[in-house]
Amino acid sequence: MDKQKSFLSINEIFNYLKCTPGARCVSEGEEFLNAGHIILCGIKSIIESKICLYALCLQTSALTSHPHEINGSIEMEKLKNDINYKIKLVEFLCSCKAGASGRCKHVSAILIQCTRENILEFEKISSTDIKCVWSTRKETSVHNYKPRPLIDTNCIKAHDLNMPSTVSEIDILKILIQTNPNSALAKHSIGRIMLVDGLNINDDNDDVKLEKYIANCTDWKKKVTNYFNSKKISNDYTCHGEYEEGNAHNACISKTGAIVEETGIIVSNSNPWLSYSPDGIIMDNHVPKKLLEIKCPYLGK
Ligand SMILES: [Zn+2]
Repeated sequence: MDKQKSFLSINEIFNYLKCTPGARCVSEGEEFLNAGHIILCGIKSIIESKICLYALCLQTSALTSHPHEINGSIEMEKLKNDINYKIKLVEFLCSCKAGASGRCKHVSAILIQCTRENILEFEKISSTDIKCVWSTRKETSVHNYKPRPLIDTNCIKAHDLNMPSTVSEIDILKILIQTNPNSALAKHSIGRIMLVDGLNINDDNDDVKLEKYIANCTDWKKKVTNYFNSKKISNDYTCHGEYEEGNAHNACISKTGAIVEETGIIVSNSNPWLSYSPDGIIMDNHVPKKLLEIKCPYLGK
């Protein structure tokens, strides 16, 4: 008598997973299977036409932890030729975070396994096997996945990085900054002037000016003390400015008809260490258009 064949059809997999061949769970499931991450796939029970499958799949992010457990049931229907079976997937569940959907990459890997091997020839596993399978297979399974340097991996080997061995870290940094001018690293570097030799920094940039100002300060202790314990400077000129500022503000509004919003301190979005306090913001149709800076010259009083 011919050997009975029970292979899962690819069509049934896509119907069950409700996905297309390009779906991520399918491609990742195939990679899992090809990489040997399925360490057990067997039959737990057969009740009439229903077969319960049980499988273990290594956790890639925690190889020594207990593997993901996959439980599934399928219905087998013998076809007229008495040799082939039509297999219908009933339900699959996996212990991983996405496993309750029954459509995770681990389930997908098991289903692909069912297209490659005759399901009726899967090993039969008892409840005792299930209990001790991990302890007996752990060592050999984990042995296959010893840590290796990144440079030894195929994806790195496949690329000729064409990087001269003399290239310095500072040169790499320079290339990164110049080729990605909008990256956080580039903005931070330019704002803070990491003194990268040869880096094309625009000296007119306000951030650069501020950095140079900071860099030029030699007595930070004195500067900080003065900043936090500042003595109020008061003389005829400043008193005049303080006294007249409100009048100047009102005069500006009445003369120009400008709509002026008063704000407190404004912090730069792109450079949060930079802030200023304008005397006012001139609005045009609810859009800020100009800054108002009030000066009250003493000689003009
Ligand atoms: Zn899973």
